[in-house]
Amino acid sequence: MIISKLPNVGTTIFTRMSQLALETGALNLSQGFPDFDGPQALRDAVGRHIAAGHNQYAAMTGLPVLREQVAAKVARSYGRMVSADSEVTITPGATQAIFCAVQALVRPGDEVIVFDPCYDSYEPAVELAGGQCVHIPLALPGFVIDWQRLQDALSAKTRLIILNSPHNPSGALLSGAELDQLAALIRERDIYLISDEVYEHLVFDGAKHASILAHDELYQRAFVVSSFGKTYHVTGWKTGYVVAPPALSAELRKVHQYVSFCGVTPLQWALADYMAEHPEHVEELPAFYQAKRDLFCDLLVGSRFSFSRTAGTFFQLVDYSAIRPDLDDLAMAEWLTREQGVAAIPLSVFYQAPPKDLRLVRFCFAKREETLRQAAEKLCAI
Ligand code: GLN
Repeated sequence: MIISKLPNVGTTIFTRMSQLALETGALNLSQGFPDFDGPQALRDAVGRHIAAGHNQYAAMTGLPVLREQVAAKVARSYGRMVSADSEVTITPGATQAIFCAVQALVRPGDEVIVFDPCYDSYEPAVELAGGQCVHIPLALPGFVIDWQRLQDALSAKTRLIILNSPHNPSGALLSGAELDQLAALIRERDIYLISDEVYEHLVFDGAKHASILAHDELYQRAFVVSSFGKTYHVTGWKTGYVVAPPALSAELRKVHQYVSFCGVTPLQWALADYMAEHPEHVEELPAFYQAKRDLFCDLLVGSRFSFSRTAGTFFQLVDYSAIRPDLDDLAMAEWLTREQGVAAIPLSVFYQAPPKDLRLVRFCFAKREETLRQAAEKLCAI
């Protein structure tokens, strides 16, 4: 009998809910992916590059032209000049990037601080490295860091803190002032950061994303991770990147070169072309997704769900306590999918110890107007 290295891991909630949506014919607002395609020019570019023979291994660190585009975007968005050669690494998705960064840093016995609700891939990566996650719940209702709890959780064993802003599933944003507070807290300690910023361009109401890339002090100890999948509406391309100072990038690359060696070549060419030709794409994303958020929320005003509009990401949390207070969130997500025809993601699965009486589920609004209208109609009828 094999002794599992991940005894607590099953099939992810995203796979389970998407599968249930498929089986029941429910509208799938659970797993986070658009039901519309990425830009035509971007998709055409892939075909062009495949036809042109760009089909063999890319450079281990990523195609130079794509790394240059990432460096240029980092300079435009966050005012940091990074070296495309020594600070940018292209990876097969943000998940792989996070995994490699964790393996590069964490040793048996190390502690890694994560904030609950916490994205599901972090803890297994830490466990496989022999480390242990220390879970700190974000304070409700705003899903903000409880600084006293963070300070109390720091120990000589703390090796790494994993941040996620804009935050999945709550949409909460870290502020520049909070980053300063974090810097002060870890200044004298040997602690590194992974900053999961895959939703960096999905911030609303005129807010500006406070990236670690814009923070001189914290950047020196950080791996900043992003995903082309989110930014260009192509989650299935599984292409992402890491920006980190040269010494950290060198360690990350030692792992990355043996986990996958490199990312997919024609996709990298296509992304490089598209980024060069359409720098406005990222500027237009906030308005594009804010319009979807507002359409969905305006329609839900007529429902018995209560919510406050999400500040970032393409996820909207809703409180269902006025509808089925008798159901926990797992049962509610299943009931919504099976009985009401709209699939959602429960929140408790992202906690080590979910708050008592949590009555929140997450809907993804990265959907066509027609899908959002149909979903809202069903939700308003409950
Ligand atoms: N990040 C996506 C979400 O939050 C899911 C990705 C996945 O299925 N692994 O819904």
